[in-house]
Amino acid sequence: MRKLIAGNWKMNGLKAEGLALARALVARAAAGDPPDCALAVCPPATLLIAIADTLRGSGIALGAQDCHAETKGAHTGDISAAMLKDAGCTYVIVGHSERRASHGETDEVVQAKASAAHAAGLVPILCVGETLAERDKGQTLAAVKRQLEVSLPAGFKAQQIVVAYEPVWAIGTGRTPTAVEVAAVHAQIRALLKERIKDGTHVPILYGGSVKPSNALELLSIANVDGALVGGASLDAADFWAIAQSSP
Ligand code: PEP
Repeated sequence: MRKLIAGNWKMNGLKAEGLALARALVARAAAGDPPDCALAVCPPATLLIAIADTLRGSGIALGAQDCHAETKGAHTGDISAAMLKDAGCTYVIVGHSERRASHGETDEVVQAKASAAHAAGLVPILCVGETLAERDKGQTLAAVKRQLEVSLPAGFKAQQIVVAYEPVWAIGTGRTPTAVEVAAVHAQIRALLKERIKDGTHVPILYGGSVKPSNALELLSIANVDGALVGGASLDAADFWAIAQSSP
């Protein structure tokens, strides 16, 4: 399957910076020698509409970083999946560990958000991953299994979802699991997806956590790693592009 490299800009970028970053990516895409993978960027919500305009026709897809589970109503400060679709998004990240940790999002909440994304015609990028404490106790596979079993939405098709394995302790730390560890978790996720749906082989499973140009090729070459969710390195156009061009 064609790999997907998605950038999670998190809460970074005022208008000028965000547009400059998006324009730099568009310029690279137009300059020839495009990477052999699909690309997406997930800017802060304030920049989505402007960046949708910038990306139009470039082949780079737009994603958001979160959505509310309800379609509309008295949810001050929240944004519905339909609003994100209306703003030009294709993807929405749900269940990122930073939201699980700082907004108390449970697997049930994540499942409701993924279902809301489907209802709005968005593809959720569903994040799972163990904490350092779980890893230290040898509970990595159990933690990821538990998260995925509860948070996968009902009745999805392979092209309607992306799963991202993001070990919490690897996010923003410069540390990554070994290739053997990544392969074991991705194999388990693949098996769970195949149990859940007939074409589970075709669900993209991204790896995320300290992906950078120097380790991208190794990580993207691991079995069942169908792309990367990139945080810090996606804020630099040259680094993000180098990661994408590492796609084997
Ligand atoms: C992320 O937060 O999704 C992420 C992968 O971050 P980083 O690449 O900075 O570790």
